Amino acid sequence: MSIRHGITHARQPRKLHDGTLYWPKTMPHIPAYPMLRRREETEVAIVGGGLTGAICAAMLARSGIPCVLIEGKQVASGSTAANTGLIQFCSDIMLSELMGRIGEKNAVMFYHACRKALVTLAQLSSDTGEDTGFYTRSSLYCASCEDDVAKLIREYTMLRKYDFPVSWGIPARVGGKISEVKAGALTTHGDAEINPLRLTHALLAYAVRLGARVYENTGVLEVGRMNGRFTLLCQEGEILARRVVKATGYLPGIVTPSSAGAPILKRSFALATVPGQVPDEWPDHYMMWETARPYFYFRTTPDGRILAGGSDDSLYDPTCDGKLLTNRTNGLLAQLGELFPGHEWQVEDAWCGTFGESSDDLPFLGEHPDQPGIHHALSTGGNGTIYSVIAASLLQDRILGRDNRLSSLLSPGRRTVDASYMPHIPNSPDHSASLFA
Ligand SMILES: Cc1cc2nc3c(=O)[nH]c(=O)nc-3n(C[C@H](O)[C@H](O)[C@H](O)COP(=O)(O)OP(=O)(O)OC[C@H]3O[C@@H](n4cnc5c(N)ncnc54)[C@H](O)[C@@H]3O)c2cc1C
Repeated sequence: MSIRHGITHARQPRKLHDGTLYWPKTMPHIPAYPMLRRREETEVAIVGGGLTGAICAAMLARSGIPCVLIEGKQVASGSTAANTGLIQFCSDIMLSELMGRIGEKNAVMFYHACRKALVTLAQLSSDTGEDTGFYTRSSLYCASCEDDVAKLIREYTMLRKYDFPVSWGIPARVGGKISEVKAGALTTHGDAEINPLRLTHALLAYAVRLGARVYENTGVLEVGRMNGRFTLLCQEGEILARRVVKATGYLPGIVTPSSAGAPILKRSFALATVPGQVPDEWPDHYMMWETARPYFYFRTTPDGRILAGGSDDSLYDPTCDGKLLTNRTNGLLAQLGELFPGHEWQVEDAWCGTFGESSDDLPFLGEHPDQPGIHHALSTGGNGTIYSVIAASLLQDRILGRDNRLSSLLSPGRRTVDASYMPHIPNSPDHSASLFA
């Protein structure tokens, strides 16, 4: 396949967030990467320069596996920029509920993988040698109503049974009205908060130091396959690679090749207060979330802001006018106000972002059985970052010839609850159809 100059992007990516974001303020000098204007040959081509792509690049580079990452717009400008940076080993679906779906053994294996991914992320963050805003934290998982207390007790029992770091009850140091408003709580330990923008750039800088190459403003127009190698055609260059990682996030049209599991797209709202707004009754930088769906959550930042989010709805387009954003922001403030009455909140940033869920509450990760060499890294749910680390581990294991028992569980070709997500596609080892269009 030869390079075709002058092709414009077949589908202009739609925006993934709207409103004013908080993270860009924490990084006044954002590194820039060149546009790809030549032919690159490599082992792995990573498409997508969000946190998922950056984690994959860093983990591959650390293992000595050559890779090139290309980003159609700017690094970390997609969902990563809207991510509120709570990193928890517990998923949106409880361990005890997941057991009912996929069996106890599989559910425990998945939860252990999430916990391990958190440890891996901590190590990666530390390896970058930069301030990524990664801090170990505990999370308060609250029962939103009396009816959910039994569910939470069952969850606590299961987490304890399998040695996850968890304790029961609202810690005595936590004040405000939490213990009056929330019917009960468990606390998980060893979770973390991150600054997703800083972490993405730090991981890429680390990967580049280890030999990876990174390009921005380099959208993939078409992916072809010839003689066992992929050709990724970009606007002014191309990449030849043995494997392709699809870390393209939730962009409509690009995210859903006919052969892979598709996310159910929604939108979520978030806000950041001005600094110095953490109530005295909220010690130790706990992160808080709850059993209601959609759930309300909040965390603190190192400079004393509250980042709160929730109010999800089923519209996937994050475009929202000022009135709607104000309305949802006030809704989030009202939930904060219930927990800390009398506190005056001052919001500095408020935004809305697209995110995806899956009908079986598991992400779509790993090599597609019908597309050998194409690795999906589609992280769904509130735990997307943890799933991105698992995606990178699956990729690494596949390249290094190691078995990974998660591969069939999370396969992008698996049968999800809704069979329409799994259309049949013929096995075609050598084809040149566009996999991204
Ligand atoms: C409001 C909100 C809060 C969230 N909070 C959390 C949280 O607290 N914790 C958590 O773990 N997760 C959270 N998430 C989810 C999290 O944002 C995502 O899981 C994660 O950031 C997605 O990263 P990504 O790299 O997969 O996607 P993105 O950041 O969207 O990156 C994908 C990139 O691929 C590029 N791309 C697409 N197509 C092409 C192409 N053809 N060629 C080249 N490049 C292409 C895009 O330009 C984009 O930059 C939140 C999401 C939202 C919306």
